[in-house]
Amino acid sequence: MEIFKLKEVSYSYGKNCVLEDINMEIYKNEILVILGPNGAGKTTLLKIIDGLIFPKKGEIYFKNIKITESLLHSKEFVREFRSKVGFVFQNPDLMLFNPTVWDEVLYTPLQIYDKEKAIKMAEKALKKLKIYHLKDRHPYNLSGGEKKKVAISSILSSDPEVILMDEPTASLDPKSRNELIDIILDLKKEGKTIIIVTHDLSLASLADRCYIINKRILFEGKVKDMFNLPLEEWNLDVPDITKLFLKLREMGYDVDIPINLKEALNIITK
Ligand code: ADP
Repeated sequence: MEIFKLKEVSYSYGKNCVLEDINMEIYKNEILVILGPNGAGKTTLLKIIDGLIFPKKGEIYFKNIKITESLLHSKEFVREFRSKVGFVFQNPDLMLFNPTVWDEVLYTPLQIYDKEKAIKMAEKALKKLKIYHLKDRHPYNLSGGEKKKVAISSILSSDPEVILMDEPTASLDPKSRNELIDIILDLKKEGKTIIIVTHDLSLASLADRCYIINKRILFEGKVKDMFNLPLEEWNLDVPDITKLFLKLREMGYDVDIPINLKEALNIITK
């Protein structure tokens, strides 16, 4: 089932057109990774999907309902939509406005559920991100990585069906990054739909399907089909391990192409 559908969507800031003719489908329970270099329009696209800005041209459907500007002014629709779609911003400072981590994570579930259930959901989300011990801290005094985890918890605590993530691993150390990857895979097992935008090609290892965009859509498909494309020419950050295996393939070796060390080790030990 299609959760979102975008038809010929374009967006400009003033005269600067940053998205042009975007046709995109997002299906239930997939991990969709949207790749593109800096400035490609990825954040703008997520904001459009999240209804924060409205496209200058084109149409968007959420579960077959056409989203119009007037619908986005309907309190009823917005409340329903916000309970189903959660957006983890790239910069967590834009999301944290409560005096404690606990208040932050409890805020949205309290709008939706009774107090007892809201408390359970907030506890579960903090434990999932392994930050329960931070619950009485002021978000302002946390490290960048900790803030990011609070921001993610504050979205997961209301149990949305669709989770939008803008550069989710930025500012996380390697251990936290791997933990987040496991959480994303868990969320998929729970039936969630996850849309990640990033310039970090190695995150594509999570993807059921990828798009590469730079103002327009350059590619749509499976990760394994990306490697015949001029990724570096498109200014994508190709991991060194991928470059090494692409070189081996160029030299005539029949190898699969990994996008991270784990995949490379699997290929070598096979
Ligand atoms: P990405 O997330 O891929 O880095 P963005 O969607 O953030 O790309 O930005 C795409 C382009 O739009 C960039 O050139 C950026 O400078 C410009 N842009 C983004 N937000 C605004 C804004 N609020 N006003 C004007 N220009 C913007």
